[in-house]
Amino acid sequence: MSISTNTQGAQGGGNNLALIASHSHISGLGLDDHLQPKETSQGMVGQLKARKACGVILKMIQQGKIAGRAILLAGPPSTGKTALAMGLSQSLGADVPFTAITASEIYSKELSKTESLTQSFRKSIGIRIKEETEVIEGEVVEVQIDRSLTGGHKQGKITIRTTDMETVYELGNKMIDELSKEKVIAGDVISIDKANGKITKLGRSYTRARDYDAMGADTKFVSCPEGELQVRKEVLHTVSLHEIDVINSRQQGFLALFSGDTGEIRSEVRDQINLKVAEWKEEGKAEIIPGVLFIDEVHMLDIECFSFVNRLLEDEFSPIVIMATNRGISKTRGTNYRSPHGLPLDLLDRTIIIQTENYSEEEIGKILSIRCEEEEVDIHVDALHLLTKIGTETSLRYAANLISVSYLVSMKRRSALVEIEDIKRSYLLFLDSSRSVAFLQENESHYID
Ligand code: ATP
Repeated sequence: MSISTNTQGAQGGGNNLALIASHSHISGLGLDDHLQPKETSQGMVGQLKARKACGVILKMIQQGKIAGRAILLAGPPSTGKTALAMGLSQSLGADVPFTAITASEIYSKELSKTESLTQSFRKSIGIRIKEETEVIEGEVVEVQIDRSLTGGHKQGKITIRTTDMETVYELGNKMIDELSKEKVIAGDVISIDKANGKITKLGRSYTRARDYDAMGADTKFVSCPEGELQVRKEVLHTVSLHEIDVINSRQQGFLALFSGDTGEIRSEVRDQINLKVAEWKEEGKAEIIPGVLFIDEVHMLDIECFSFVNRLLEDEFSPIVIMATNRGISKTRGTNYRSPHGLPLDLLDRTIIIQTENYSEEEIGKILSIRCEEEEVDIHVDALHLLTKIGTETSLRYAANLISVSYLVSMKRRSALVEIEDIKRSYLLFLDSSRSVAFLQENESHYID
């Protein structure tokens, strides 16, 4: 079976925009160079212990030291569990796959629970693949020069690849001389005569030269005009295991990556892909990057899902699974057993737990102030003070929701500044959960049971 990895830049992940929007002020975990949390940084406020613990996890992921591990972020509602996961994702950077789902997403009519979980796991494993492709006429390609052999940039081993490897070797040796003769330096654009390996300097590619400096790598750029040396270039790209599954699944084809309608993928396809990827890894053609799968509201998984997660964690390709829950001792779905955080004990046993704690009034004030800035809402200090009080007495999330509502109220009275009155009006217009409960209790007889 030949395995294709050409995803044409398609994104296999689900749409998590809604999840991200309320955390758009977060751009990282806010840690210093020693992974110590700064009080307020990168949109993150307080929650120092949990942020420090996430910093350790970050380091371990970056060093590729952990895969197949489970971490649970546990704590009361609105204490920043999802925010921490988003911060971790930002700190990891775009190269490490990060998939965020809410546990209830896996209950759909289209996919079985186990298939849905498997896809999420495989979306979170990146495969960095080296591929050789032909150079198009006139295209600028990279030539790697191994300076370590001689120490000089004009000499060394050239690892430019062509279709004919013998020619490469001969041309390679000649090119070393040619490069010195022509005083080719990094960023020069050159052409190579196929017949005699002669190099002609065509000029400089300044952008490329800058790239070169930025990379600090031993890379030179040459062009390959028509009729001259047939050069093949080496490209690196990262795809997820799931993307490889989809484009190799006969029923689906890669277009399914755009629609997200990937259907069930046969286990034989996955087995073959696992074998192939392992082979590529062995041959040095691919590198496996265990990413992160974040499962929010994990208590919504049932006992079958938990047992399946347990099994997937033991798979040879498994990401780091970060779960979040605000449940204390509660029933595991699908059973009559109560357990800590609603997680079955065998999964809990292999999980490391990071606890989040309630915020102080000052921290709530800071978070709300950051949210106002993020939503571009000007707020009077007294109004922010009142909003903070509301946040302390109700919930951070409720107070944060009042920001946009109060802004609309202020606009109605043609003011661009949110003042105390606007906050008061929004507070009366929209109930928080405890006032709603109190109202229901008072008016129980008017509702249908
Ligand atoms: P739940 O258990 O209800 O799902 P949670 O613990 O996941 O809650 P979040 O959704 O992360 O809580 O937090 C609520 C809001 O407060 C979000 O907008 C989040 O970005 C923000 N927030 C929470 N903690 C922090 C923090 N330490 N710094 C900055 N913003 C925060």
